[in-house]
Amino acid sequence: MQMNWSAVILLASVAIIVLGIVISKIIQLKPQCPECGSKDIVETSRETLGSRMIETAGGGTPGGGSIRLQLDFELTYRCKKCREIFKRKFSETQ
Ligand SMILES: [Zn+2]
Repeated sequence: MQMNWSAVILLASVAIIVLGIVISKIIQLKPQCPECGSKDIVETSRETLGSRMIETAGGGTPGGGSIRLQLDFELTYRCKKCREIFKRKFSETQ
């Protein structure tokens, strides 16, 4: 059997990228309570702080970069365990 190394490398890099996205999503979506470290929290409100246009390289159009809208949010969470209220900021690219 002949190994196709370029395919193996490609597959490995895709797996790493997917894993990275999944991990970053989990971290972003599941913040911990700063008081007791519990992940048993609920989102109580979401506030848009601002938006800006950003240029991304390579994505979107076949010609190269594209202009995208990035939104900054501030989310308020409440811990179900100790009732601590805390905020987290994050950015979302549209
Ligand atoms: Zn807590």
